[in-house]
Amino acid sequence: MMSEEVVRYSRRGPVAMVTMNRPRYRNAQNSAMTYALDAAFTRAVDDDEVAVIVLAGAGDHFSAGHDIGTPGRDVDASFDRRAVMWWDHIAKAGADRRYAREMEVYLGMCRRWREMPKPAVAMVQGACIAGGLMLAWVCDLIVAAEDAFFADPVLRMGIPGVEYFAHPWALGPRFAREVLFTGDRFDARRAYEVGMVNRVVPRAELEPATLALADRIAAMPAFGLALAKRAVNQCEDLMGMRAGMDSVFGLHHVAHAHNVEVTANPLAGMDAAAMKRARR
Ligand code: ZN
Repeated sequence: MMSEEVVRYSRRGPVAMVTMNRPRYRNAQNSAMTYALDAAFTRAVDDDEVAVIVLAGAGDHFSAGHDIGTPGRDVDASFDRRAVMWWDHIAKAGADRRYAREMEVYLGMCRRWREMPKPAVAMVQGACIAGGLMLAWVCDLIVAAEDAFFADPVLRMGIPGVEYFAHPWALGPRFAREVLFTGDRFDARRAYEVGMVNRVVPRAELEPATLALADRIAAMPAFGLALAKRAVNQCEDLMGMRAGMDSVFGLHHVAHAHNVEVTANPLAGMDAAAMKRARR
């Protein structure tokens, strides 16, 4: 598993390309990928030649979300933690274990990445589901191919949305409710209409259009970009995003704990196949 690079890194002029590389599993995000993403973003931030970071997914899909059942699922593995100051989850039990892990690898990492001082652009094709939304949302801009589709269907597991609860800010409260309550997919055009994505382009133009946008941004002064990014983030947080996420993270964990009490499984017994069946 580890011999395969789960994240690829390359540089094209002033643009760092960070590519999730588990195409066989629609780039399902395990912890190995989380820490590889963190290492790639750190490398891009530390490289003075890099002005803009593009986050991409190898293959036909951007991200199927968190790994809930591939052979590389590694929820019981220990990694060198760096998103939050908390104890390791693996020696703990119950909600203590789950809270520690999800605060680090999901909420904490996403917040850490959102605060990178260089602009990030998500380049999205195919599926961008649940945990995949978190990865796209932490980027400053999103360019979507016409074939991109989005959903957060975790309410089918009894869970009120993924850990990084940006839904009301990324989608607007009205559409956020529809997305959560139905679990339905929405396409790139709808995502554009509600302001969730910046550009919708034909699939063949996804990469050139994304790189052209990244190059335009890269021409701006680096410190100015960092300040502008921070300005928008700070205002989003003043609009309640950070505090909202903290409060909803508690609800998310009530749902996990309820599932364990009632079904003995934090995901209510739902795996990728069951989620697919439930969608029909
Ligand atoms: Zn969770």
